Amino acid sequence: MSRSERIAALAYDPGAQPAETVPACNLCGASRLVELARRDRYGYASVLVACARCGLAFLSPRPTANAYARFYEHTYRPLVSAYHGRHIDAQTVQDEQRDYAAQLAAYLARVLPGPPTSVLDVGGSTGVVAGAFARDGVRPTVLDPAPAELAVAAAAGMEVVEGFAEDFDPGERRWDLVLLCQTIDHLLDVRATLTAIRGLLAEGGHAFVDVLDIGWVLARRGSIEEAYKVDHPFYLTRATAQAYFDLAGLEVVAERMADDGHWGFVVRAAAPCEPDWPALGRGAEAFLAEVWRRRASA
Ligand SMILES: [Zn+2]
Repeated sequence: MSRSERIAALAYDPGAQPAETVPACNLCGASRLVELARRDRYGYASVLVACARCGLAFLSPRPTANAYARFYEHTYRPLVSAYHGRHIDAQTVQDEQRDYAAQLAAYLARVLPGPPTSVLDVGGSTGVVAGAFARDGVRPTVLDPAPAELAVAAAAGMEVVEGFAEDFDPGERRWDLVLLCQTIDHLLDVRATLTAIRGLLAEGGHAFVDVLDIGWVLARRGSIEEAYKVDHPFYLTRATAQAYFDLAGLEVVAERMADDGHWGFVVRAAAPCEPDWPALGRGAEAFLAEVWRRRASA
């Protein structure tokens, strides 16, 4: 079977799901949006827009929170399996995450001042990444909306909390290391989540956030249609990630380029500040020009 036949066999119709428009940019609040593309990498009718002011790209309309919850429960893994032409499930994902976790732990050991004394993984799924930071006296916490994945994390010895970062009331608790790993593109409100993460940091604590760069994916895949997908409401770059950190009051202290197009940022709490809006505007122009150039040369 071809890729499109495998995807068609799932009989998922995003157009039939409850959807919501996103009237303004989640990063800068502007409402002047440029429609870029109307069919995603799976071939689904799905509209990608970019903010003309800051360059943030996002889906609008997009599935509602409930529609996304059903999507993740029933469709997401069969869909990526159909797309890649190989079986992907909770088990194979864990194998890939073990390599990712080992690399991340080694990286953070190089750039953090010392081993983290407490760890919270936001969107931490089955706890594989959090588990890489477990040691005597440190039992990582996994915060995730999916009960089935949390059950696996709990069985592996993690403390688990069901929910989203922006709704999570930690009481007096704070964490020395907060992780947001390969999760930011899946969020429905990036700004609220980063603000919440800042509030979860202990004195002197750090967060690690990684972001798949839409410019990298565009260059890699060759067209904007191949560079977006219904499972990612948001598409960031190094520059738009930096702007989110500025607004949330997170200062970047170290960053890395991963091999797969992700920027990784180590941040700590600082005073919120205004991003460099003119530079973001120039970045938005360059991004639109690149999408246009690739469409012209396709
Ligand atoms: Zn914007």
